[in-house]
Amino acid sequence: MPMPLVPEDYVGKGSTKSSWSISSAHAETGIMKSVPLLAHTSATVSILGGGPAGISCALWLKNLGHKPVILESAALPGGTPSLIDRPNRWIAGMPGITSVDLAKKLMEQCSESDLEVETGVSAVSVNPLGPHRFQISFSSNGESREFESAAIVLATGVKPRGTEALGRRIDATLSDKIDSDPLGHLTGKNSHLGERALVIGGADNAFFTANDLLTAGAQVTLVCRSTPKAQSLIQSRIQDFIDSEKLELIKADCESVLPAETGIDVALRAEQELHKIQVDRIYLRLGFIPRFDQLGGLISKLELPLNDHGYPIHDARGRCKTEGIYCCGDLFKQGPPSVVSALAGGATVAKAIEEDLRKE
Ligand SMILES: Cc1cc2nc3c(=O)[nH]c(=O)nc-3n(C[C@H](O)[C@H](O)[C@H](O)COP(=O)(O)OP(=O)(O)OC[C@H]3O[C@@H](n4cnc5c(N)ncnc54)[C@H](O)[C@@H]3O)c2cc1C
Repeated sequence: MPMPLVPEDYVGKGSTKSSWSISSAHAETGIMKSVPLLAHTSATVSILGGGPAGISCALWLKNLGHKPVILESAALPGGTPSLIDRPNRWIAGMPGITSVDLAKKLMEQCSESDLEVETGVSAVSVNPLGPHRFQISFSSNGESREFESAAIVLATGVKPRGTEALGRRIDATLSDKIDSDPLGHLTGKNSHLGERALVIGGADNAFFTANDLLTAGAQVTLVCRSTPKAQSLIQSRIQDFIDSEKLELIKADCESVLPAETGIDVALRAEQELHKIQVDRIYLRLGFIPRFDQLGGLISKLELPLNDHGYPIHDARGRCKTEGIYCCGDLFKQGPPSVVSALAGGATVAKAIEEDLRKE
């Protein structure tokens, strides 16, 4: 009679008696070692934001045996892609798809995979109860709800910086002449033919906006504060417009923006020189900031350390400095802000949560 590898009454950490079904033949030959197997406990995880990152994170958590709950402030999940009716050429394996269609697919997958999604969510508040224990309260379509969650994932994305990024007080009467939506010039609301346009910014969105406006017949001045960061492909296209004297590129700071009878008077300071121009419309393309505005005091309540740009400080797996809080998608400052990065970030965070909950 061989000796059992594990005493009959042994119930080790993370193991149950039923985990130890070792045949006596293996025990005799010593092939199987005494490895304590993990017991699985399903944990509820709240995910704030139902864009690509939040949905990917929920899908991975569900497949890993947990109970993700997506809290989405909009009427439907899908995130920023649901607002962009343009081809998305950046996703391998999905040729020809538009961002809107991608958002629909993500939404369909939520119901096919039976993911719990609360929409129309507002007034989210969090009460930390202990390590990996949070009381979450919120209102969903007017109804108050609360539940306990082992982890919180921030996946609320980013929003464009507005006139505050200019560091100047802007007259309220100019609000309908200043556009800070990166795709605002494509809505078809205004004709750009002959428009005197000022585009401010040095990254991709500024350069693409200048390119679109020039193509639509506008007279464009492009102002960058420092050396442009836009991808070289669009910079070289803009260089062609500069060479053919269709566009003026000025490295300057915006000193003043004032209403005028026939447009907007703008003073630009380039080193010691002051350039004064008059334009019909200003396109601010000054980057993005985290979308934390509908979260009440949640960020300060969680004592979440942020970097100089207002993003949560996190490790390579999306773990924030406050235990049990994670971030992914556009809030996770790694890789280009894109759908594929958001999907990958959601998966990375789900795996990190699964590993962290094992340690508890
Ligand atoms: C103009 C533009 C064009 C782009 N074009 C492309 C492209 O062609 N290809 C590409 O791959 N990427 C593109 N991107 C980037 C891409 O859309 C983002 O990188 C991606 O959507 C990020 O996913 P996310 O889940 O982090 O955030 P989001 O998609 O922004 O989703 C965040 C979600 O959180 C919700 N939310 C916000 N606040 C709260 C709150 N307080 N409570 C609950 N929910 C909240 C929002 O409603 C939203 O559904 C583009 C972005 C912009 C702005």
